[in-house]
Amino acid sequence: MTRGRVEGTPASGAGVLREVARGAVGVFGGTFNPIHIGHLRAAEEVAEELELGELRFVPAGEPPHKPARAEIAPAEQRLAWVELAIRGNRRFRADPREIRRGGRSYTVETLRELVAELGRGRVLFVIGADALEELDTWRSPEEILALAHFAVMTRPGQQGALRDLQRLLPPRLRGAYRLTPDGSAGSHRETGTRIGLLDVTALDVSASAIRARLRSHRSIRYLLPEEVRRAVLESGAYGVSRGAPAEEVS
Ligand code: ATP
Repeated sequence: MTRGRVEGTPASGAGVLREVARGAVGVFGGTFNPIHIGHLRAAEEVAEELELGELRFVPAGEPPHKPARAEIAPAEQRLAWVELAIRGNRRFRADPREIRRGGRSYTVETLRELVAELGRGRVLFVIGADALEELDTWRSPEEILALAHFAVMTRPGQQGALRDLQRLLPPRLRGAYRLTPDGSAGSHRETGTRIGLLDVTALDVSASAIRARLRSHRSIRYLLPEEVRRAVLESGAYGVSRGAPAEEVS
């Protein structure tokens, strides 16, 4: 038995995704405010499990979803941290298109562009199960599902709604797919794009917790790559005094 996995529940939709992942480019969108080991580990496991040749991190320019009160570091800075974080990983790339486009970032626009560049069936969007549950609040969700394959990250051992696409997909979007009886995978009725659940190690790290630690002058060491930690501290972002020596701050 695999440690942490609940017996009797479907492991994942990895098989269905693997059929289409060959030759596809993974797309991992996020605010990355800042990027941390939770993002990196999840991305590494998705790339490995699906044997992706390339996985792109696409930092949002102006994220439409984040509440205005969330402190968002300048886009160029978040992009630079992503580049630092993925340096040396031959499969990972940073894709600055949402930042270059300017204004609010809409996933549907990014996916339209990528499909035009790479071809239909060659884009695989990586998303957390909790984010998928809220997909109906995004712009043009029906088109998003029709454009790209979806790898939906779940946690090993998770049960109930978070392991069943029938329940995870917002009600108005459920009809888009022909799902497998166990709800772990599906195929788009019109375009044939796939969706599948994929177990990844979900480290309990979030960007908001890192920012909260910085505000209260607590250590963020080991929550993000060391080079990124130093760059964040030196940038003066999140209220840290600019140029603060990394050793002294945290
Ligand atoms: P915040 O805490 O500011 O809301 P975040 O840490 O959740 O930010 P985002 O940039 O909003 O990071 O997340 C981008 C993507 O990364 C989402 O699909 C989200 O589900 C996923 N993600 C975030 N944290 C983790 C984690 N610890 N493990 C796996 N995936 C994660």
